[in-house]
Amino acid sequence: MDSKLGKNKELGLYIHIPFCHTKCTYCDFNTYSGLENLIDNFSDSIYKEINFWGITEFYIVDTIFIGGGTPSYIDTEIIKNIINKISDNFLLSKNPEITLEINPEDVTKTKALEWEKIGINRCSLGVQSLVNSELKILNRRHDSEKAMEAINILSKIFNNISVDLIYGLPLQTKDSYIETLKKIISQDINHISCYSLQVEKGTVLDQQVNTNKIHVANDDLSAEMYKITQKILFENDFENYEISNWSKQNKLSQHNLKYWTMKPYIGIGPGSHSYIDNKRFSIIKSPKKYVDFFKKPLKNISSIREKILYLRENDFLDVYENQLRENEILEFLMLNLRLKDGININKFKKRFDLDFEDLYLNKLDYFIKENIIFKKEESYILSEKGKLFANEVANNFVK
Ligand code: SF4
Repeated sequence: MDSKLGKNKELGLYIHIPFCHTKCTYCDFNTYSGLENLIDNFSDSIYKEINFWGITEFYIVDTIFIGGGTPSYIDTEIIKNIINKISDNFLLSKNPEITLEINPEDVTKTKALEWEKIGINRCSLGVQSLVNSELKILNRRHDSEKAMEAINILSKIFNNISVDLIYGLPLQTKDSYIETLKKIISQDINHISCYSLQVEKGTVLDQQVNTNKIHVANDDLSAEMYKITQKILFENDFENYEISNWSKQNKLSQHNLKYWTMKPYIGIGPGSHSYIDNKRFSIIKSPKKYVDFFKKPLKNISSIREKILYLRENDFLDVYENQLRENEILEFLMLNLRLKDGININKFKKRFDLDFEDLYLNKLDYFIKENIIFKKEESYILSEKGKLFANEVANNFVK
């Protein structure tokens, strides 16, 4: 088996579980509450989609990310079947990273032991804050005490735990954010994702902000909170390997690194995104339409190109894009600037057959002079100042 595997490219699989007990006010993910009656049919459809993509030639799956929505909310038997279906239908690497997204209120010792038994080896826990008033205003279901209990249970069973936090929240102050951060790092976890709160159009939070019912942090306060995050996590041995992600003991998220380094992945489930064969596409968002699609018999196809074509012809894709070179360059710049190692000129040359320094000579001079970017060996890296507006910098390159 090993000699065969040597020729294979690595592939990530993302599985989208679009169910949540309740909807958080800021959330614009493709996820629904009150659709529990669909879960049984949905799980059959997910198994069929795994089967449809399976035995993908030349690829070996080395990361699986079961996200959502709230996968921890559904029956562990379904998660187990998903993992089994994947291992029946794909080549798996020796020790694939298998992440489960978990909400604190779902964590019990029994459930955590079951997750470990079925092969989950990384937990991504949605804590967001450890201040009860901040959690309540977001319509999160857990309180601070439950979040700490969940971390406590998980850390006795798993050695790879990530916690998600948000800064810039309504009611949040610098002090309350510091309190959350310090409590989290006092626990046995080795990865933290800290995101700045985004007010997405059409969310409950958006309405609350527009009608002045709720106020969120302005850009200056958010920038200060980001600097606080950098300082505290750095002092506690966390490495900032991506703008919003910090790891300790080298526990980087192998799955998310695929997104950030433009490696191939397939998204399974409604609304999930894929990037493979230089094509980007996403599945239709509606869980109901998704389930209906899999009630019909599917054609048996072996090549990825033909599978994508089949899904397009059968109106199963929401977005499809044969990636244009200019878009690919912009995406490469955006994603690499967010990474600790920045834009490597040799990688850029290899991918696009272009000389990065010749192409952007004037812009590089300006960014260096303004202390936004610095050069280290063969790479251009965002300074701490530059990290505050990474996307603007990437966009400016291709203007
Ligand atoms: S639990 Fe997560 S996915 Fe579900 S509504 Fe809240 S933020 Fe969105």
